[in-house]
Amino acid sequence: MAWECGITNCGAVFEDVESAVVHQATEHERRECKVCGTVVPDGYLAIRHAFTDHSRAEYVRAYGADSEDVRKREKLLEEIESNADMDLIAAELKR
Ligand SMILES: [Zn+2]
Ligand SMILES: [Zn+2]
Repeated sequence: MAWECGITNCGAVFEDVESAVVHQATEHERRECKVCGTVVPDGYLAIRHAFTDHSRAEYVRAYGADSEDVRKREKLLEEIESNADMDLIAAELKR
């Protein structure tokens, strides 16, 4: 299965999900979380931060998201979490 970077105007495609996440975290600018102001890597890790450190309600309020946005992101997180080796990603990002 190919993984596409979902960040606007990127469209880079990777063979494994770990490479896609590392790409998002290293090739894209970091973003400030709109809820707490922490600077987090863009893409999957930004979504993971928003959805694990904050409630859905906080996310919706800060990002002006609707329930469809939330559903889509929850699905993406699930998909990545069941496919990705998070230890490998963490190790890659420490280099
Ligand atoms: Zn990208
Ligand atoms: Zn935050």
